[in-house]
Amino acid sequence: MNAIFSRDEGPVDETCDCYTCKTFTRAYIRHLIVAKEILAGTLISIHNLRALIRLMEQIRVYIADGTFESRVPALLNQWRGNAERTRKILSDE
Ligand SMILES: [Zn+2]
Repeated sequence: MNAIFSRDEGPVDETCDCYTCKTFTRAYIRHLIVAKEILAGTLISIHNLRALIRLMEQIRVYIADGTFESRVPALLNQWRGNAERTRKILSDE
């Protein structure tokens, strides 16, 4: 709902390959949230599920190559950054 994103033509996440990020802009998602359209929840859920699947794929690779423990701090920073970005998109500040 953050007004900063009302004209943001970028995807929710530039690195994501989900249907939502490949098809819709932050501005459109924001519009759906402000208009209380149920499609907003569906599109956000599609992105969130894909993000979790991508995380699990990463973790699987790191476990297989024996680097998981050393990569945990970077993974936590990555997800902390994602959470802060999501909070900005959804806040009305
Ligand atoms: Zn996505």
